[in-house]
Amino acid sequence: MKYKLPFQIAELARQKTGLAIPINFVFGGDDLFPQYRDLGMTDGVDIILSRKMINLPLDNQVAVIAHEIAHLIMMQSGILHTENEADSLASWLIGKKIWYDEYDIQTTRNTGKIRPHYLGQ
Ligand SMILES: [Zn+2]
Repeated sequence: MKYKLPFQIAELARQKTGLAIPINFVFGGDDLFPQYRDLGMTDGVDIILSRKMINLPLDNQVAVIAHEIAHLIMMQSGILHTENEADSLASWLIGKKIWYDEYDIQTTRNTGKIRPHYLGQ
């Protein structure tokens, strides 16, 4: 994968947590990401990203990748967690609050919008 941003954020996460966990990224097919806001997922081993990600503003890319890394870290640590907790850990990892944009996608841009309840917490 030539897309470098995920690996840069993973390195930041390793430095911040001190955890030496492997964080691997792969691109997944469009069938895995049917909705506009479906951009990433993790099975606890790999983080699978949609190619749609690359065309998003950087603020979205950073927030979504950090959110998936947060899921991966907690899954690998055996911590049951919520979506809000993934955002909280993601926020700590990158040192920026996670907001939601008009498409309900995570962003580091201050939109004033928190995670909508209908997305699940
Ligand atoms: Zn999530």
